[in-house]
Amino acid sequence: MIRKTIIATLLIALALSPLSACSNNAQGTPDESVTAEETTVEETTVEETTVEETLADKYLKFGESKELISTKTVDVLVDTFNKVYGDICDFFNDGKMLKVTYVIDPDYDGVAYASGGKIVLSKKWIKQNPNDTDCMTHELVHIAQNYGSNVCPGWITEGLADYGRAKFGLNNKKGGWSLPKYDKSQKYTDSYRVTAAFFIWLEENVDETLPKDLNDTIKAGEYRNAYFVNKTGKKIDELWQMYADASKK
Ligand SMILES: [Zn+2]
Repeated sequence: MIRKTIIATLLIALALSPLSACSNNAQGTPDESVTAEETTVEETTVEETTVEETLADKYLKFGESKELISTKTVDVLVDTFNKVYGDICDFFNDGKMLKVTYVIDPDYDGVAYASGGKIVLSKKWIKQNPNDTDCMTHELVHIAQNYGSNVCPGWITEGLADYGRAKFGLNNKKGGWSLPKYDKSQKYTDSYRVTAAFFIWLEENVDETLPKDLNDTIKAGEYRNAYFVNKTGKKIDELWQMYADASKK
């Protein structure tokens, strides 16, 4: 008798359980246990994808124009992006990564330029100088600088971009690119490599926090002409003179 009752109870329980689940769904009532399970599955999927995705997969769009240059050069450019973009964003943009589109321009006579999340590279230039892939490292610094309407002299913007190229570039030597030694014909306002070499000297000899602090100050909209004197106790012309004197020794 007891055994019969247990079997009967089990049968009733089995018969009722699917019914109750169906009635829940039919009424449109969310079934919490099912929702929780689905969320877990989704999270696992995202995690797995993140591990496999490269920075280029996530942040670089290389449009159809890549067919204008060799696949070997495209591969180097993508590989360079994967290796330098994280460090560049850590240094120049508090680790925040913006999406970038690369465009190869068959008609552009310059080297490369960055504008509104896009970097345009001259087809002619990269075909004639296939090892100059770090010209894109310079442009990626501009993407991360993202100074917008924040004001600072152009020589600082370009000096920091070449500072970033010198610091993070992978192929500078092979690409025939290097920082110049001091020469009396130079001035800190010369921009690009001349200013970058000066910034590196300041970093190594005056204040190691200067280049990053300068970038962060510009981004905060707080750059003023008195920046260098406030930061180092010396005017920019005095610092340049110190650099000149040290280079003559
Ligand atoms: Zn530039």
